[in-house]
Amino acid sequence: MSAVWNLAGPAPATFPRLEGSTDVDVAIIGGGLTGLATALILCDAGERVAVIESHTVGSGSSGGSTGNLYSTVSNGLAGIRKKWDQDTVNKVVALRRQALDDIQRNVERLAGHCHFERRPLHFCIQSNVDHYGKTLEEEYEVSVAAGLQAEIVDRPHGLGMSLRRVLRIENQAQYNPLEYCYGLAKAVQHEGGLIFEHSPVAEVDAAEGKVTTADGAVVRAGQVVFATHTPKGISMLQAEMEVYREHGIAAPLNSTDGEFPRGIFWTLDGFHSVRSYEHEGQPYIVVVGQKHETGHGDLGEGHFEELGEFARSHFDVAAVSHRWSAQQYQSADLLPYVGRSAHDNVYVATGYSADGLVWSEVAAQVISHQILGRKDIDGGLLNPRRFTPGKSAKAWLEANTKVAKHLSTDRFTVEKMDDLHRVEAGEGKVLKIGGDSYAVYRSPEGELKTLSPICPHMKCMVHWNSADKSWDCPCHGSRFDVEGEVLEGPAYKPLEKRSPKL
Ligand SMILES: Cc1cc2nc3c(=O)[nH]c(=O)nc-3n(C[C@H](O)[C@H](O)[C@H](O)COP(=O)(O)OP(=O)(O)OC[C@H]3O[C@@H](n4cnc5c(N)ncnc54)[C@H](O)[C@@H]3O)c2cc1C
Repeated sequence: MSAVWNLAGPAPATFPRLEGSTDVDVAIIGGGLTGLATALILCDAGERVAVIESHTVGSGSSGGSTGNLYSTVSNGLAGIRKKWDQDTVNKVVALRRQALDDIQRNVERLAGHCHFERRPLHFCIQSNVDHYGKTLEEEYEVSVAAGLQAEIVDRPHGLGMSLRRVLRIENQAQYNPLEYCYGLAKAVQHEGGLIFEHSPVAEVDAAEGKVTTADGAVVRAGQVVFATHTPKGISMLQAEMEVYREHGIAAPLNSTDGEFPRGIFWTLDGFHSVRSYEHEGQPYIVVVGQKHETGHGDLGEGHFEELGEFARSHFDVAAVSHRWSAQQYQSADLLPYVGRSAHDNVYVATGYSADGLVWSEVAAQVISHQILGRKDIDGGLLNPRRFTPGKSAKAWLEANTKVAKHLSTDRFTVEKMDDLHRVEAGEGKVLKIGGDSYAVYRSPEGELKTLSPICPHMKCMVHWNSADKSWDCPCHGSRFDVEGEVLEGPAYKPLEKRSPKL
């Protein structure tokens, strides 16, 4: 499982594990785009910064994204207008347009092109269904009102896919997101910032400004930024968000003679995101989709097969060469939560949906301005402390009813099995053995790994994810590998090791 972005080669720099004790002005937890972009702005302003990353820089959703950059949003600006108003849409577009320009400036500064190119974005319809036509027209109207250069084209040609209608928005962009992460990390290091990899943070004492890793190493800082995609530990914001996984594939084109998509393509009626990516003259078709709630609706290989089938039905592609998955967090009122949190010295950035490559740059600007005491750039629009019951109550209620349901029923529906030979190689199952529940996985080599199935975050029961071979919590999206180690999400601690007495 590896994203197509890895074709550009391994990380040009690696960073040490955090050891001992380090004092800085700002501790940033998370080495994705939010953490790295924030670190660079703060380093430029002369702050002493440490970025502390669990795994390696870019290994979270940033490196598993589609690399599309745009001033609009993937769920459509019309949805934001419905919940908020046109004025809010205009502010969202203005913030995101500025951030896209900032990203382009960073790319130029990094002297690596990161495969960055200005390209158009297309909301596409393939079918004849009326409803999608109306959606497209509404989106066109909101986009133009927000100052985007948009037009609707009927039966467009030369895009490499058969499409009925397209809303085209000019001057958006694409890049290789992993190369951009690597470039930012090198720039942070060059400007004197500290970066630590393989250093999972296990505890944050906000009052003391003390960040402690699982190995007991410590960073002391006046300000702490959670750039962890979702805040770690228990936060009210987790009750305001839905968590989704999405999958991606890439396949090399057999022939480069024909047309293939250059730009961003989202099919409204098929929920596929399509783009191309070129490596050493070979174009690849990238298809992303199969969105489903984390811990629910696991189709295993089925997710990748559907995406591969879509690619084959539209393009002359060879076998799928890359496949990967990533996570996204969608806020109940459709705007991200960015800035100073309940603790005055702690900052969060979350709820980006699938639009975080640009929101992460907005967040970096908002948070660094707050830390440096500069003028607010979002007018409080993204304030994580906002209270918007009229806009978020329905989604909030649905999300939390689901959590309550998992907490109250999952434990009583566990399959009973005393014969673990029935767990096949490569398979994971939550089982009741003797009166206790276990998360049981058998490796392809036949080795059995047994864990507690209780997520340490809020005690929900994890579900097996056969596409990614992980244990996923359906409540707030914490994910664990087959050894129980935290992969992502709000949990700090691993799944407890637990062996059944047979
Ligand atoms: C399939 C998919 C495609 C997408 N495509 C696009 C796109 O084309 N355009 C777009 O704008 N957005 C896209 N997105 C959304 C975008 O990828 C994310 O919103 C964005 O990358 C989030 O960046 P981040 O830095 O906040 O989080 P991440 O990149 O996830 O970084 C968070 C980092 O924190 C680290 N971390 C977590 N816990 C700890 C801890 N305890 N200690 C230390 N470190 C920790 C993680 O290891 C991780 O590296 C996509 C999302 C998905 C799921």
